[in-house]
Amino acid sequence: MIKELIIRFDYHSGKTVKKLRELELEKKKINNEDEISKLKERIDALQQEYESKLKPIVLVAGCVAQAEGEILLKKEKYIDAVIGPQSYHQINEIILKLEQKLRSINFTEFDVIEKFDSLNSVKNSDNKVSSFLTIQEGCDKFCKFCVVPYTRGPEFSRSIEEILIEANQLVENGAKEITLLGQNVNAYNFETKRLSDLILEVSKINNLERIRYTTSHPRDFTEDLIEAHKNCKKLMPVIHLPVQSGSNKILSAMNRNHTIEEYLNILEKLKKIKPNIKFSSDFIIGYPGETNNDFAATMKLMNDVKFINSYSFIFSPRPGTPAFDLNKIDQKEAKSRLTQFQKLADEKKINYRKNLINKTALVLFENKIKDKNKYFGRDEYSNSVIVETKENLIGKIKVVKILNVNHNTLLGKTIHDINQTNYAA
Ligand code: SF4
Repeated sequence: MIKELIIRFDYHSGKTVKKLRELELEKKKINNEDEISKLKERIDALQQEYESKLKPIVLVAGCVAQAEGEILLKKEKYIDAVIGPQSYHQINEIILKLEQKLRSINFTEFDVIEKFDSLNSVKNSDNKVSSFLTIQEGCDKFCKFCVVPYTRGPEFSRSIEEILIEANQLVENGAKEITLLGQNVNAYNFETKRLSDLILEVSKINNLERIRYTTSHPRDFTEDLIEAHKNCKKLMPVIHLPVQSGSNKILSAMNRNHTIEEYLNILEKLKKIKPNIKFSSDFIIGYPGETNNDFAATMKLMNDVKFINSYSFIFSPRPGTPAFDLNKIDQKEAKSRLTQFQKLADEKKINYRKNLINKTALVLFENKIKDKNKYFGRDEYSNSVIVETKENLIGKIKVVKILNVNHNTLLGKTIHDINQTNYAA
């Protein structure tokens, strides 16, 4: 058993919390054989495909790879390197080393500070209109189904100063929109500064028009963050707030540490201060122990909240997590529930989108569609919008009239610039 002491400031209680986290990774590795055999099938197929060709460089990446690095390299000689999420920034260097025939390297060690230092120099050359900026890594929540706390380590927040330097450089290079990223982004906490403080600082950057953040946890959705949605005009009016289930029994079994009432209360407070706000969410269907009643509660939640977007999956046990050994519910039943849920979620999404026809949206245009006079952008709710025009729209915010919708995209025509109108979203 590996043990690790986590020390962090808990701003719910205002106290420093010390927690002994027991990583059961060693014990669970025995169960990871299933995952490794699936990977072996993929490697075998690759080997066959390249039998008469030059061997490609084979990298295995991701959270499970992080947990299984040593075993993978020992078992699969065709793999050249295993790369954990903490080492993605080293990928160019890794490939170069492999090209120089330095084989079988395990790049899965935690070194979050070094990773962020390196990302500084990579990301600042980015000149996208819409850019991502990682502000936080890791998670202390230990939801029973999730591998992140084991593979990405405890919560770590970058300094405001460092983030602002990077944000300014992104904007200098053309970014009009920045999405602040973190596994548990609203747990951001650097020297008592929270996400709301950071948003306020980032919003002061001239020429930055839009701020988003993802992914949030309901437990960390504090009053100051709710207030930020009232005070910061650059903060977009859509929040992705994973709920996973509509049943309190299942939320407790998942160790989500909040009830459905608390979740809905956050949404209500946000709607009160910003009536045009919308929500999207993640759902796990068929979690061990989910009954018909629990599932009905999840369907009710979708009906009540009318999420404009949702991501739903059947529970899939991740090696190394406490939920891995739980008894799965009947899989035919789980599939049937997922189908019902996705049908309802689709109905909500389609209705929402149909209602946008003949209305206007503020769209920030990101790029031109290849070989066509069509431009792609996103409205305030992150909906994809395409318009046809000869005018170069990249980097501009325009008022667009929505003419038609399909499942994933809104089609419209530009009316005028945002600064030529009194249009208020
Ligand atoms: Fe943390 Fe999210 Fe994973 Fe829960 S689901 S442990 S909050 S990363």
